[in-house]
Amino acid sequence: MVLKGKSVAPGVAVGSISIYNDIFRIPSEAFVPEGGEQAHLDKYNLIKKEALEELESIKLSMQKLDPKKADIFNAHKEIAEDIILNEEIHAKILKNRFTGDWAIYKVYDTFIGMLQQTPDPLISERSVDFIDVRALFLRLWYGQKKYSLSSLNEPVIIAASDFKPSDAASLDNNNVLAILAEQGGLTSHSAIIAKSFGIPAVFGIDELLKSVKQKQIAVVDADKEIVILDPSLSVKKKYEKKYAAYRRDREDTEKYRTSEGRTLCGVKIDIGLNIASADDKELSASVYTDSVGVFRTEFIYMGRRTLPTEDEQFLVYRKVLECFGERPVILRTMDIGGDKKLSCVDLPDEENPFLGNRALRFCFKHPDIFKTQIRACLRASVFGNLWLMLPMVTSLEDIRKAKEHIASARKELEKEGKSLKDIKLGVMIEIPSIALIADLVCKEVDFASIGSNDLIQYVCAADRMNVEVEPYYQSYHPAMFRLIKKTIDAFNDAGKPISFCGELGSDPKAVPALIGLGMRKLSMNATSVPAVKRTIASLTVKKAEEIAAKVLKLSTASEIEKYLSGAL
Ligand code: PEP
Ligand code: MG
Repeated sequence: MVLKGKSVAPGVAVGSISIYNDIFRIPSEAFVPEGGEQAHLDKYNLIKKEALEELESIKLSMQKLDPKKADIFNAHKEIAEDIILNEEIHAKILKNRFTGDWAIYKVYDTFIGMLQQTPDPLISERSVDFIDVRALFLRLWYGQKKYSLSSLNEPVIIAASDFKPSDAASLDNNNVLAILAEQGGLTSHSAIIAKSFGIPAVFGIDELLKSVKQKQIAVVDADKEIVILDPSLSVKKKYEKKYAAYRRDREDTEKYRTSEGRTLCGVKIDIGLNIASADDKELSASVYTDSVGVFRTEFIYMGRRTLPTEDEQFLVYRKVLECFGERPVILRTMDIGGDKKLSCVDLPDEENPFLGNRALRFCFKHPDIFKTQIRACLRASVFGNLWLMLPMVTSLEDIRKAKEHIASARKELEKEGKSLKDIKLGVMIEIPSIALIADLVCKEVDFASIGSNDLIQYVCAADRMNVEVEPYYQSYHPAMFRLIKKTIDAFNDAGKPISFCGELGSDPKAVPALIGLGMRKLSMNATSVPAVKRTIASLTVKKAEEIAAKVLKLSTASEIEKYLSGAL
């Protein structure tokens, strides 16, 4: 049987399936005989204690890796201890004589149902946390072993309904051969994380969990976007060979990680780093990158109940700036909205959040939140080379309005006697309206960065999160290359820095064309660096220009993709 999906990280793998579904046995309706209530209540109280201990220990281990994600487990602890929920469970056991597992299942179910019916996505999304905690309680009730992605005993192919960023946080890279998921588009947040691990991944596989069995042998060919279940011996052998070649190729590619981004003919290509935090792990890539191409600061606001204060943000920004010293750090102001929801801010429900009050628009609606971030940035500016970048810019008015906010925050800080530095101001080119007037934009700003993840969705009118419209989300659409060229030309002509921080800039197939169009600064997550540097090293600018010229003559995305696949 062959399953089809969308490749979010390249490579092949052969191995056995491990279903990761936070699965628990769904209890059946059951009642305790009279007199047995107390024993069930005692067992419930005991597993509640165990659950809290387990959550605390995950939280502590996570705190070292990623403090933001650790907060998720605080929220889970709060649920486990929730007074109303616990009173309900007690009553169901003592008064209705539900068995403990049935009481847990039913009471949580009511809460989950109520949350899911709330129109406010901020509240309805909390149901996911309740589902997580319920799974934990039931696992403990049945004495099932913990399924943790951080402690796998053998190499496996993970098959999940949804591979959440919080799952990725604790992933054991060494024992995960590939990741398969039913949900998730190419540039969904979880896809970007999966890619950052350098593990082959195919997402958007319809009915995956209905099709696979635990320990079933499978071949994953992320390059062909297929999963072959129960492969024949010859297919298995073929893929084992391919897998060995893939591993060797990865090792060869890995050697390029610390080399410079330079073409065969000697032209320097700046390699920037895309980060979402100031974690030491993320910043460790600073030794082999030339800048921070985009710091997605909105992640500082996520997974927490209160907004980060000016001082908190200041310390984060300062750490990144100090780490990069003289090298530029492009700090993007918060890109809240779209697929990025916050629990610390009440975002109104919108029909089309990607076309709504996202990013800069959100900031203009919440000037105080914006001001806090700008103040933190300006204060941190003296510790390095800060370039401030605005996301989701639609017009020159947006830029001018943002400048007023920045000027007013600067004035305030000057009055307070704070020492500040001049910073560069730039924009993301991710909305077609702004790409089409790049010649005007470059007069208004110091630099820009092309955000292809959004530019594609707005150019092609295909939601980047919606697997259903994935075929319309065309990274290689001819319109994309025309818009990219227009933008690069405008900034290069004006002598102003232009960079690329969307996923297309870390696609080894697209890199030659981008360089051929005049791009000299690419930014990506750390995992993509070796493959991109390797591609650059095999390329002359002349060849890149030939490739770009050919791409501009082709008329469909599939023609362009096919051509780029064989161009080098
Ligand atoms: C982009 O849109 O290409 C981008 C880099 O920003 P994000 O993926 O965070 O929207
Ligand atoms: Mg974007």
